[in-house]
Amino acid sequence: MVPPPPTTDAEVAPFARAIGLPGIVDMHTHFMPPAIQDAVWRHFDSLEPPWPVLYRWPEDRRLEMLARLGVRHHTALAYAHRPGVAGWLNRYTLALAAREAQVVPTFTFYPEPGAAEEVGRALAAGGACAKVHLQVGRFDANDPLLDEVWAQLEQAAIPIVLHAGAVEDGSGGEEWCGPGPVARLLERFPALHLVLAHLGAPDHAAFLDLARRHPLMCLDTAMALVGWPRLGQPPRDLDRRLAELDGRVVWGSDFPTIPVPYADQVAALVRLGLGEGFLRRVLWETPGRLLGIGTDESGGQAGAARAPFGPGEVSGQERRSR
Ligand SMILES: [Zn+2]
Repeated sequence: MVPPPPTTDAEVAPFARAIGLPGIVDMHTHFMPPAIQDAVWRHFDSLEPPWPVLYRWPEDRRLEMLARLGVRHHTALAYAHRPGVAGWLNRYTLALAAREAQVVPTFTFYPEPGAAEEVGRALAAGGACAKVHLQVGRFDANDPLLDEVWAQLEQAAIPIVLHAGAVEDGSGGEEWCGPGPVARLLERFPALHLVLAHLGAPDHAAFLDLARRHPLMCLDTAMALVGWPRLGQPPRDLDRRLAELDGRVVWGSDFPTIPVPYADQVAALVRLGLGEGFLRRVLWETPGRLLGIGTDESGGQAGAARAPFGPGEVSGQERRSR
């Protein structure tokens, strides 16, 4: 019997414990330099229908809140909107990860000369997760300036949180999104560990189909389960489709830029009715495996020795203990 879903944020950590988890691994959490974070929040403020940002707090308080939610490991996603900023963003997110043990070293990149060198630096600094936002960045995932980057990430088996859903929010950039460019990218680099953000919303159905054809592809749940209008309607048989992709569905919240309490997203996941094992895999085991985090109570450190792996093959814990 799955315990009742959390109704408040205070009930999230106890819920995770009740299903036998040491906590939660959140693959889709944003931390950016304050000037960029403020600009992102101002963008969300301008949306109609409104998107109230519930956790618009200073960084310390946001880190503390994630800890109170029982989030034991989380990323620090930032993304470049133009050339020349990826290195600056990466210095910020990698420094945060060096300071705070629960933060997974996370980096981004942009199609520009020097992109491969920047990614090389991020990997050497322990980078364990990458983030790319095609709509905000307004670039082609298959831009030749990224060929070397994809090859590096494929070789290192680094998970890449990829925002490729064309969200119509008036900011443009939809033409770079959708399943087409992602399918072409996977034809060229089939061993990439892509994690499609927001279950691919608003193109859920097409991205869920693409995931069935590409066994390494994962999807994160960020804001995709609560029926928020901006992200389109998920297919009616979403529960069945996610059950088929069990082991490749990854917990993500989009914290802090979310208009609903964190608990509501956990509750929506529980309400899919796919059982306790599914919940454990989504909330800890699958993101943990992608990020090289063990299943042990001590949690371990992200970014430990990694090797290419597929769903259900080798856990981060096993890899670390080799
Ligand atoms: Zn996000």
